[in-house]
Amino acid sequence: IFNEYITGFPKESDMTIITTGSLKLKVPPASQDIVVKNLYLSCDPYMRLLMKTSSGIFSPYTPGSPITGFGVGKVMDSGHPEFKPGDLVWGITGWEQYSLLKVPDNLLFKIQHTDVPLSYYTGILGMPGVTAYAGFYEVCSPKKGEYVFVSAASGAVGQLVGQFAKLVGCYVVGSAGTQEKVELLKNKLGFDDAFNYKEEPDLNAALKRCFPQGIDIYFENVGGKMLDAVLLNMRIHGRIAVCGFVSQYNLAEPEGVHNLMAIVYKRVRVQGFATSDYYPQYSKFLDFILPCIREGKIKYVEDIVEGLEKGPAALVGLFSGRNVGKQIVVVAPE
Ligand code: NDP
Repeated sequence: IFNEYITGFPKESDMTIITTGSLKLKVPPASQDIVVKNLYLSCDPYMRLLMKTSSGIFSPYTPGSPITGFGVGKVMDSGHPEFKPGDLVWGITGWEQYSLLKVPDNLLFKIQHTDVPLSYYTGILGMPGVTAYAGFYEVCSPKKGEYVFVSAASGAVGQLVGQFAKLVGCYVVGSAGTQEKVELLKNKLGFDDAFNYKEEPDLNAALKRCFPQGIDIYFENVGGKMLDAVLLNMRIHGRIAVCGFVSQYNLAEPEGVHNLMAIVYKRVRVQGFATSDYYPQYSKFLDFILPCIREGKIKYVEDIVEGLEKGPAALVGLFSGRNVGKQIVVVAPE
């Protein structure tokens, strides 16, 4: 249960675990709703934006109600012709063991491919996967041989962007917040280089060291000081895909960005994007990504905690970088 709107960093105590007396696992008569048993819940940075009253484009959480987010579930009962008991789905659900979902108010996709881990539908085969695919291939317009920089590179989205960049034949460097993550990027995920931004006193110097020739494409996940340093290192006609600004979500006032004139001098294209615009391309995305997974061309690192009661700590941990890879909460065994 989400307790009350917050300022600053989220805490576990901003959420409360409760047990309700009776669970109705049947949809109301004549409704088009479905009941799902939640199996996996996804921790995503945007959920912090729903914990404050003015969250821009999103509808904030309701204090006293369960928080919502992406998840994978099994249909238990259905009044909707397109879903039947036993179907597996991914989409927006509640942080609870069972959820009554309204179709089509809730974004819901029926899962057709089960030869891959079901948890992947919270990550590589779900919202973060579509984000990386659309953000990199559509927004960044990558070309072979270009120099690509990814921040929050070991996370749900970043680890995919880096691997997509390698598939295109780019040179790719990632930043992350621990040495363990840096090793993961270089040794498991195929990045050409990586650095720990928390141990770099001068981010501009770190980027100059990694990109003596400059950056063609920056996949922006964090904002703030990193964006300022990147702007000084962009090449002429570079592109910045603005996916998110996770370093800013807990600040009352966003940090100022000082080097904006570089956008003019370097003729940089800066473009934000929203994953929701790309769901109509989901089946095309699956046609691309499923063979990559099956053939081992793309790897996916998950950070899995067991039990709904571990959910609040896992969600809060995103903002200190506690997660190594895509953060998932297991609610029930498959
Ligand atoms: P991650 O799995 O990468 O988790 C968040 C990570 O951000 C942490 O692990 C941490 O890694 C890093 N981080 C946290 N605080 C800071 C900070 N102050 N400075 C720098 N890094 C920080 O999350 P996702 O991959 O799911 O999301 C990445 C970005 O993509 C976010 O900005 C998110 O909002 C955005 N997004 C945007 C979408 C869109 O439609 N535009 C859709 C989905 C995601 P580390 O240890 O490296 O610091």
